[in-house]
Amino acid sequence: SFQQTQDDVIPRYVRVNTLKTTLEDVIDYLKREGFSYQGMASGLEDLDRLTGKTFLCDLHLQDLLVFSAKTVFHDHFLYKAGHIILQDKASCLPAFLLNPQVGSHVIDACAAPGNKTSHLAAIMKNKGKLFAFDLDAKRLSTMSTLLLRAGVTCHQLANQDFLKVDPQSSVYKEVKYILLDPSCSGSGMVCLRDEVSEPQDEGRLQALATFQLRCLNHALQFPQVQRVVYSTCSIHSQENEEVVSAGLQQNPAFRLVNLLPNWPERGHEPFTECLRASTAKTRTHGFFVAMLERRPPQKDQQN
Ligand code: SAM
Repeated sequence: SFQQTQDDVIPRYVRVNTLKTTLEDVIDYLKREGFSYQGMASGLEDLDRLTGKTFLCDLHLQDLLVFSAKTVFHDHFLYKAGHIILQDKASCLPAFLLNPQVGSHVIDACAAPGNKTSHLAAIMKNKGKLFAFDLDAKRLSTMSTLLLRAGVTCHQLANQDFLKVDPQSSVYKEVKYILLDPSCSGSGMVCLRDEVSEPQDEGRLQALATFQLRCLNHALQFPQVQRVVYSTCSIHSQENEEVVSAGLQQNPAFRLVNLLPNWPERGHEPFTECLRASTAKTRTHGFFVAMLERRPPQKDQQN
């Protein structure tokens, strides 16, 4: 089927968990197991040529390895020991782009099951504070297991509605970075792609977009926040550019950051500072990422 074909062209991405190991050690380990390392990918053709036990380093993201689609790691020692995380390339973008400083205070607003949380912790070198919220208790318990395996220690998990977290609370007064990856239609997930294309889903999309905008507006209320990354695994502009557009209009203290100039797929006009991802152009699931930053104080402002 079409879906099968699409699934096959998404390679297996493996993020090296630098809280537990290094890129070099993982590459060496895999080479000793008979994998063949081919260096840094230079384009999509290299990814499409992966077969058997060959693998590459990703072109855009550090600490990300790429294997052929059929490579299975679920029972592998490196996976079970938390040295590697199985995470689509597109879903590695938010934490990588937010790039919180070591020792900073960070919120992961809709965090479970926690792959992006563990990525944030790795970038923070487990130093500072990582406040992670999720409404769903079951997903949070999966997340605890995942974070334990990944060696994350700088986090504080809360089974809480992010929209009810008080931005004025002294607990969050040093929060500079927020990762916001709210519930979305999932229309970018290749395996779900056919489910959200019906016109009767308009109402659902609108409800999701309303929720997503409330979350974005809420994130921008934290008094010290400098950067907010907003992401979805949706291909609908209603949940992506339109949410960002409304968020910017309602929060003039913030502007978009132009992300990865050499990334091949951009947000829909005029939001080309944002990134999109797709099977066709980036060999990932469908994804959207925007980064908003607080404008510098008025007196220094140039534009
Ligand atoms: N960031 C996660 C990761 O990378 O593993 C995936 C997050 S998933 C797209 C969205 C999550 O938002 C779900 O786990 C859902 O339970 C949670 N959620 C939905 N509404 C929420 C709310 N009001 N406050 C906090 N979490 C919420």
